Amino acid sequence: MLPSFSIVRPTSLDEALAQLAAGDARIHGGGTDLLGCLHDGVFATPKVVSLSRIQELRGIARTADGGLRIGALTTISELIASGGVAERYRALHQAAQVVASPQLRNQGTLAGNLCQKPRCWYYRGEFHCLRKGGEKCFAFEGENQYHCIFGGDTCFIVHPSDTAPALAAHGAVCRVSGPSSSRSVPVDALHVRPSQDPQRETVLDPDEVVTEIVLPAAPAGVRSSYRKVRARASWNFALAGVAMAVRFDGAQVADARVFLSGAAPVPWRAAGVEQAIVGRALDAATIAAAAEAAVAGAEPLAKNGYKLPLFRGLITDELEKIATRTV
Ligand SMILES: Cc1cc2nc3c(=O)[nH]c(=O)nc-3n(C[C@H](O)[C@H](O)[C@H](O)COP(=O)(O)OP(=O)(O)OC[C@H]3O[C@@H](n4cnc5c(N)ncnc54)[C@H](O)[C@@H]3O)c2cc1C
Repeated sequence: MLPSFSIVRPTSLDEALAQLAAGDARIHGGGTDLLGCLHDGVFATPKVVSLSRIQELRGIARTADGGLRIGALTTISELIASGGVAERYRALHQAAQVVASPQLRNQGTLAGNLCQKPRCWYYRGEFHCLRKGGEKCFAFEGENQYHCIFGGDTCFIVHPSDTAPALAAHGAVCRVSGPSSSRSVPVDALHVRPSQDPQRETVLDPDEVVTEIVLPAAPAGVRSSYRKVRARASWNFALAGVAMAVRFDGAQVADARVFLSGAAPVPWRAAGVEQAIVGRALDAATIAAAAEAAVAGAEPLAKNGYKLPLFRGLITDELEKIATRTV
């Protein structure tokens, strides 16, 4: 049963920020994650501030420099339907298509997808784990088949969002408004590692709102993709996934941004893969080296060692495909 809380539905961003500045409130985008957390007692709140009536947070538009501005309240379905996203930001388009189910994509927003809480069954269950203010991460010695292989430090969740690694690969930036100022946060700096603070997922303060996500213009020669492997083919989170944006100069890779999902508590930058491919043509030897680099330094837990060959295979497949595409 949902606990009782008050809900306010401001019609302007200023009004929403004033409501949040009063303290002790949670932001509601589409509610697909927030309401589940409240229902399951993961946390409680006396007040929910719904953004759903704030028109200025909606819409997708071209920016003056050829990029794309995506309003925070854009649903995942609207993202998929956007020609601008499909044509120029393939990784994001592919990631959006594999988020959850059609119903959840119709309701869930892009900002909510970036800020969602982890899906760890100890965190979502009745365990007073480290992330909920307790003393330890139960996954470390427990049922950890869906947990991380990188960056666990003290809490071994994986970041659940499919769009976050894709946006990070495209170099996207979140515009964030708070009670007295606004700031820009690159998506690849939005999420917090457990070693920094095991009780927060993002660098945002509770009274800060993501207002839009801005994609830079896609440079000529960039090819991008997102692919995830999941335990079943419908609405499931990534066991392993990879987003990449690779810029070619002729046959050679000039630049690359590669982020893994299902790997770490934050979208995990696969710097080793980037180093293995930049300055080289994607031949079999380079791809094999990149696949090995993807799992170098991984620290699998007792039950998730299967993720290593999954990541190797994913990187191999995706680099082979991207090497033969023309766009
Ligand atoms: C059964 C199920 C399966 C799912 N499968 C997947 C999946 O495969 N891949 C995937 O990526 N996701 C998956 N999800 C998560 C779902 O896609 C996200 O919950 C959805 O996109 C979140 O959007 P929302 O607007 O509903 O978020 P909300 O529930 O409204 O909010 C989520 C969190 O973000 C915060 N928030 C929301 N908007 C803002 C904002 N503008 N600024 C600051 N903070 C904000 C909220 O306070 C809350 O903490 C699944 C969810 C369910 C229930």
